[in-house]
Amino acid sequence: MIAEVIVDVAAHPIDRPFDYAIPKAVEVLAEPGMRVKVPFGNRKVLGFITNIKQSSDFDPKRLKPIHELMDVTPVLNEELLQMAQWMKKQTVCFEIDALQVMVPAALRAKYEKRFVLNAELEEILPPLRPYFENRSFIRLQDAVEVYALLKKEMDKGTIIADTDIQQQTAVKKVRMIHVADTIEVLETIEIRANAKQQLKLMEYFLKNTGQSIESSQLQKIAGVSLPTIYSLVDKGAAQISNMESYRDPKLLSNIEHKASLKLTGAQQIAFDRIEAALNTPKTFLLHGITGSGKTEIYLQTIDQVLKQGKEAIMLVPEISLTPQMTIRFKERFGDQVAVLHSGLSAGEKYDEWRKIQRAEVKVVVGARSAIFAPFQNLGLIILDEEHESSYKQDDSPRYHARDMAIWRSEYHKCPVILGSATPSLESYARAQKGVYELLVLEKRAKNQPLPDVHIVDMREELRNGNRSMFSVQLADAIRDRLEKKQQTVLFLNKRGYSSFVLCRDCGTVMQCPNCDISLTYHRSSEMMKCHYCGYDERVPTTCPECESEHIRFFGTGTQKVEEELAKVVPEARVLRMDVDTTRTKGAHEKILSAFGEGKADILLGTQMIAKGLDFPNITLVGVLSADTTLHLPDFRAAEKTYQLLTQVSGRAGRDVLPGTVFVQSYTPEHYAITLAKDQLYEPFYDREMTMRRASGYPPYYFVVNIQFTHEDLMTVAEYADQTVRYLKGQLSPNTLIIGPSASLISRVNNRYRYQCLIKYKKESKLIDTMQQLIKIHRTEWLKKGATLSIDMNPTSV
Ligand code: ADP
Ligand code: ZN
Ligand code: ZN
Repeated sequence: MIAEVIVDVAAHPIDRPFDYAIPKAVEVLAEPGMRVKVPFGNRKVLGFITNIKQSSDFDPKRLKPIHELMDVTPVLNEELLQMAQWMKKQTVCFEIDALQVMVPAALRAKYEKRFVLNAELEEILPPLRPYFENRSFIRLQDAVEVYALLKKEMDKGTIIADTDIQQQTAVKKVRMIHVADTIEVLETIEIRANAKQQLKLMEYFLKNTGQSIESSQLQKIAGVSLPTIYSLVDKGAAQISNMESYRDPKLLSNIEHKASLKLTGAQQIAFDRIEAALNTPKTFLLHGITGSGKTEIYLQTIDQVLKQGKEAIMLVPEISLTPQMTIRFKERFGDQVAVLHSGLSAGEKYDEWRKIQRAEVKVVVGARSAIFAPFQNLGLIILDEEHESSYKQDDSPRYHARDMAIWRSEYHKCPVILGSATPSLESYARAQKGVYELLVLEKRAKNQPLPDVHIVDMREELRNGNRSMFSVQLADAIRDRLEKKQQTVLFLNKRGYSSFVLCRDCGTVMQCPNCDISLTYHRSSEMMKCHYCGYDERVPTTCPECESEHIRFFGTGTQKVEEELAKVVPEARVLRMDVDTTRTKGAHEKILSAFGEGKADILLGTQMIAKGLDFPNITLVGVLSADTTLHLPDFRAAEKTYQLLTQVSGRAGRDVLPGTVFVQSYTPEHYAITLAKDQLYEPFYDREMTMRRASGYPPYYFVVNIQFTHEDLMTVAEYADQTVRYLKGQLSPNTLIIGPSASLISRVNNRYRYQCLIKYKKESKLIDTMQQLIKIHRTEWLKKGATLSIDMNPTSV
């Protein structure tokens, strides 16, 4: 029997399965979807079996055998294997990348460099011998102190360097102690009178005959050590076994069940439409303002799906996957819920994935990659906040979770719900055309009024001599809330504030030596860092250009606001939430819950706080500068601004107390700002669609972004130029090819970057042409050190 294997060698010029012989001994075990270790060239690599067949077009005698089966049950089922092939075409990625993205990180290939003994132990230098005593290799990381000796041996050929797949111990095992069944058995065991520990443990055993307990727990309860347990086991008082166990991510257990709410009229209408479509591959766009009760509809439709004995996937942007959200799902569905988010360790994620694979749970709540949850019998897929750009993966495979959801809904004949207060223009346009069914919730579920939004013209403030970043109105409102003991949220877009280091004498801005970008100043560490390549250095005391000592630096955005805020309300207790304060695990939740418990008056932060924040005492929201997203060089700038303002405003007045929002802007007349004020989505959609049509962007045109990089500017320019000429020869005359041009940030990590854009409405030759580009790249440009990346559906350009 022969296995077709997709190997983990993405740099190979052809992306196709390779044939391997299946050794007789494992013939009955091997199945498509399993991981295997196979020889490839002179190394061993990981691969996935995608097919098993009787014969090969290659000489069977020359076929190499599979080295090792790495799974006993397939990690990918038939559906996901099919989906990988489709994803490969759709996103022009390598099939191996598509396969790897579908399994938890713990199951992806990790390689380790090793030194392998290639002779008898006696033939190598004595100091090395102990290292090879019980095994045939040393890992690179364990070889540091003997590296020189190894090098000598390598020259002789007695030791060779190779790379192997690191074996993961992904399944957590716990030691279980089973106490003997009867007191009679225990009483036959003799323990010396001075063996206090053993006597203590025996006392426990006598009270717990026939019981099983985890050894670490037993150590705690009985107050004994592990060797004591072993000594009694040796005497026959108990037995030991290893049991598979799940890691406990300290996730919210003992949550009380909460019953469904009675749906409002509007919710009921939407619910009925979806319920009628269960078991059909249909996509709904649920357009409902924040607080309109979308989540309650998700919960109740999932409940219907579970009643049918099927499963559901609930996708949430990473940033909204807060404990509050998780609690809502656990309250409704208890232990039937698995949760997947980036806060879990690789092992914890693997455990959640296994619960799904073994059908021990019925619902998964998770970020983007949860779309690959290996459910066999899907009844519903939901994408909340469907407009979020985090649903698109930034690097290969550049897939969009929405496309994957729709593919799976067709496979399983089940509906998809896309939910949003501010749908993406693409989805809304599809709903207008009838491709998706539009469902609308116009009012908040608890009938609270929308917050009162004021736009503040910052130019006016300047004219009146106010140079602070707080307008008089906002500052007054902050003071007012402080007096009333109500809470305020201040939001700033971090891109809008300077955080660079500047020489005041010659104007030099400190730049990254590797990238075409200025360094960012971090006050906490007194360092300047490059956010693109990770370079960092201390802030210089004198200017490297003119030696002046007048170096001026600005704190990162939020730090600077914090300083100014202290001038406005010195007595206020302020919590700051940004990349700097949320680096450690759980920091995000800690800040939020501290704020929720009223331990601070003001929460100040970046986009991180735009979502999920649901506290009754927040009555004031301030947006410090609405313009910063508006002026990004991106066709979605207005859309993003509208979305952000809507979301941030939605944080105020979510309970009984009404909310007020101040939006500060230097371009207060822009339609994205004025229409967001009253959440007038449809007028915004109409205006923005006119703009998109005029400039030839999605949803009118599809866009493909192609990026080239190389160490040498001339080479990358030439590569880009040749590609554009090639594309013009291949694609239809109605397709627009724009560029080539240098990328916005034209050098990163000492590599120059060029790009070109393809805009098309219908292009039958697109996929073929892109695959052709990849071939040309691998045969001609790869060896010259160039990179090529193709994004078939960029979220921003
Ligand atoms: P969304 O997901 O659209 O932001 P939610 O489902 O979170 O809205 O609902 C907003 C608030 O209204 C929540 O506190 C929720 O418990 C409450 N709510 C939702 N539906 C109902 C209902 N039918 N009856 C009473 N309260 C509701
Ligand atoms: Zn200078
Ligand atoms: Zn850099």
